[in-house]
Amino acid sequence: MGRVAVVTGGTRGIGHAISIALQRKGYRVAASYHGNDEAARQFQAETGIPVYKFDAGDWAQCEKAVAQITRDVGPIEVLVNNAGITRDGMLHRMTKENWDAVIRTNLDSVFNMTRLVIDSMRARSFGRIISISSINGRKGQMGQANYSAAKAGLLGFTKAVAQEGAAKGITVNVIAPGYIATEMVMAVPKDVLETKILPQIPVGRLGQAEEIARCVAFLAADDAGFITGACLDANGGQYMA
Ligand code: NDP
Repeated sequence: MGRVAVVTGGTRGIGHAISIALQRKGYRVAASYHGNDEAARQFQAETGIPVYKFDAGDWAQCEKAVAQITRDVGPIEVLVNNAGITRDGMLHRMTKENWDAVIRTNLDSVFNMTRLVIDSMRARSFGRIISISSINGRKGQMGQANYSAAKAGLLGFTKAVAQEGAAKGITVNVIAPGYIATEMVMAVPKDVLETKILPQIPVGRLGQAEEIARCVAFLAADDAGFITGACLDANGGQYMA
């Protein structure tokens, strides 16, 4: 039987592509979501992948969900921390509420889920933890102090936990996508996209969710055990760290 993989925010956008890519590789996948029941229902009907509704930023909800997934599907061996939101605004206009929401959903969620699977991964001497950061966590982005801080936080978290997990067969890596054609990016006004964003991308186009899913499948594989504490940039050449 394939290994058990959980994808947070696995029902839409990049997470949707990741869930399908892992399923095609033979993993037993569980996907989480937060509020969009219709998208989750459609995703489950199309893929047969079980879905779990909970707030990844909430410790108690994560605790219940991880226990449930473990009962339903099995002990989690691959965790993809993909759930994320944006609440953009210049710092001088940013509300405390929007700061907290972004840190909670993009960063606290990664602590919650990773903390809840790490004991079982250590006990089994195998684990793959892959978190979805962002180009804007690598370089900073005007209007996204909250998002840039949360996504940069994932880089430090990953390097620390990679050192802790190395002797136990657990790899911890981060992927930093550039601009990917999902609802999150398509919500950007068309003229901003065409005049400001696309000219900055040397390959001349947005990325596809499947291109990020391929990165996840690569890092999740059993034979990727020598890659840990790494950040895989997939941004069409927009930012070269
Ligand atoms: P989408 O908005 O398309 O999908 C987000 C997913 O996360 C949905 O399944 C959503 O659930 C879920 N989600 C949101 N909040 C929570 C929460 N509190 N608890 C659990 N699940 C939650 O996002 P994208 O696919 O565009 O982005 C996926 C990840 O990639 C994010 O971390 C994002 O920051 C990152 N990223 C995206 C880029 C892009 O260009 N799109 C670029 C760089 C990074 P529901 O359907 O219920 O709302």
